[in-house]
Amino acid sequence: MDNGDRMEVISASHSEVESFLLCERRHYYGYGERLESTGKSDAQARGILGHAALASLYSALKMGQTWKQGWELGVKTIRNLAPNYEQEIVSSVNALFMMYVNHYQGQFDQWTVLEVEKRYDVHISENFVVPMVLDLIVDTSDGITVVDHKFVYDFMSPTDADMSPQVFKYARILQAEGIDVKRAIYNQIRYRDTKSNKTNPAERFSRQLVPLDKTAANTYTREHIIAARRIAKFRAMGVEDWERNVVRVGSKTVCDRCPFKDLCAADLHKRDGEREILLSVDYRTRPKKELTQ
Ligand code: SF4
Repeated sequence: MDNGDRMEVISASHSEVESFLLCERRHYYGYGERLESTGKSDAQARGILGHAALASLYSALKMGQTWKQGWELGVKTIRNLAPNYEQEIVSSVNALFMMYVNHYQGQFDQWTVLEVEKRYDVHISENFVVPMVLDLIVDTSDGITVVDHKFVYDFMSPTDADMSPQVFKYARILQAEGIDVKRAIYNQIRYRDTKSNKTNPAERFSRQLVPLDKTAANTYTREHIIAARRIAKFRAMGVEDWERNVVRVGSKTVCDRCPFKDLCAADLHKRDGEREILLSVDYRTRPKKELTQ
């Protein structure tokens, strides 16, 4: 309980837990100092634009519009966002989106769209909330299916999908909302050009079905709660002690993909003035998202 006798609510999204498990210090920068990088990598830009286009496409279907109208809305969305991104990335996402629409147009009515980019704040116990935004929930002849769009350099292997915690947690947690998810799909869109996908665009798309066994779903959800409780302990320390108590992973594999690498190095070596310069040029503070009721 806090001082006002309100129960303290622990909350952590899948991406927050993922960041924490990668590196405590990376998580501290993102969720303690609430920093984000001002620039976007090409992969992030593709992901943001592509997700926005797919959200428009499937929102149109949800509203009873046609596949063609959805495609037009998706193109419009990309055009509206275009000024924020490099022209080369915009053109490549536009071309990929068009290929996607062509590739799936013969089977689009196999999915009945239930929800698009919907945010849930699911209370899985009285004081534990998992916030999540789901790309797509559809009804199919095989039952309710959670779809996670992935813009990828290479497709994930079946083992990668089988080990990836995200959709297992989503399926388990949605049960608390009364939604009985039967299947999950990683809807993968490959942006890397290969010799063969240049002549055969069908090779750019793969819908990886993930069998949702209950044991894995329960285990990943339990581990999510354990990680979230560890995070809550850091958060309760306040930012200064939080920073003092986290450890750097210091692994080339993890650090090479860390958006806070320069800041982390500046803090490690305590180089005069470098942190301030980085904070004024390369990072900004993220706004806080409030939980919905
Ligand atoms: S650079 Fe490495 S050690 Fe530093 S915050 Fe990022 S992942 Fe952690």
